Amino acid sequence: MGFWPRRQSREIELGKVTIGGQAPISVQSMTNTDTRDVEATLAQIKRLEQVGCELVRVAVQDEAAANKLSLIKKEISIPLIADIHFNHRLALIAVEQGVDGLRLNPGNIGAPDRVREVVAACRERAIPIRIGVNGGSLEKEVVESYGYTPRALVESALGHVRLLEDENFDLIKISLKSSDVMATLAAYRLLAKQVDYPFHVGITEAGTMLRGAIKSAAGLALLLGEGLGDTLRVSLTAAPEEEIFVAFEILKSLGLRQRGIELISCPTCGRSEIELIKLAEQVEKALAHIREPLKIAVMGCVVNGPGEARHADFGIAGGKGVGLLFRQGEVLGKLPESELVKALVAEVEKSIQVPTIKLQ
Ligand code: SF4
Repeated sequence: MGFWPRRQSREIELGKVTIGGQAPISVQSMTNTDTRDVEATLAQIKRLEQVGCELVRVAVQDEAAANKLSLIKKEISIPLIADIHFNHRLALIAVEQGVDGLRLNPGNIGAPDRVREVVAACRERAIPIRIGVNGGSLEKEVVESYGYTPRALVESALGHVRLLEDENFDLIKISLKSSDVMATLAAYRLLAKQVDYPFHVGITEAGTMLRGAIKSAAGLALLLGEGLGDTLRVSLTAAPEEEIFVAFEILKSLGLRQRGIELISCPTCGRSEIELIKLAEQVEKALAHIREPLKIAVMGCVVNGPGEARHADFGIAGGKGVGLLFRQGEVLGKLPESELVKALVAEVEKSIQVPTIKLQ
């Protein structure tokens, strides 16, 4: 999918999800529960799975959290990634507990023998490691040489990469994160010239729901437009489920993934005689369970609405007290305004083929 060439990255397998190459750009998130609280963490992961999350990362802050990972892993159906800072013991426990991936910077876990131990454990189980460099936590030497620049992000990442390559380990993916969109883009462009490991992309600390979604969309459109990015996280100060919603909306807008409805709603004008904002919100909610890629229009007037949205699979156009239900511009019926949403949902559900099971 998409109109632009993808960077040729190598493929890695993270549990059952392929990352890199021409595999679909996968969507991930991170829980914000206390990982030691298995019940709360599982509840959040289940919600994430329901909205389409394809990989999930949990913070492993201590041994108690690390020892809970197998309990979490066995209850979920998407790959589990352990996020570890500084402590190689936690990485070894996480691997032992059966996680599918680690997020860890080898340069931060101490002596070379510790890196060797972690790499040996990951190699044995084919567990990839993500190197995640963040503009806010660059090494002192790197900042002294390159300042707070895109080059500094790249040099920091390459330093970590070398530690893994020295151990002949190449199940690597890399993220370079900055809260500055253009610095992030410049950094990934530079790194793409040097390695072919898959990239985990996103704009870090993007902000609250609306602002964060806009900033992420701007950054990801630029990155993905250049073919940079194999898996992504939209990082929002909001519930993790919202990150998944925003990520898919961005990928859908760019024609890179398909999932659920694409809502086409008009901005309204003086011809509209209904409360379109309310109606559009009702439709969005009523069709949130649909997984099939369908274009649904919600238009503000019966005169122009069906024609303006003729490319939509289904749509409604509101008038004064009554509205039209239409399919690809063709009017299917005229209904009281209060019945429009229900009729639309029924029509959409009818159109989705339910697979029939053939009895032998
Ligand atoms: S569909 Fe009707 S209300 Fe909406 S923008 Fe077009 S003319 Fe205006």
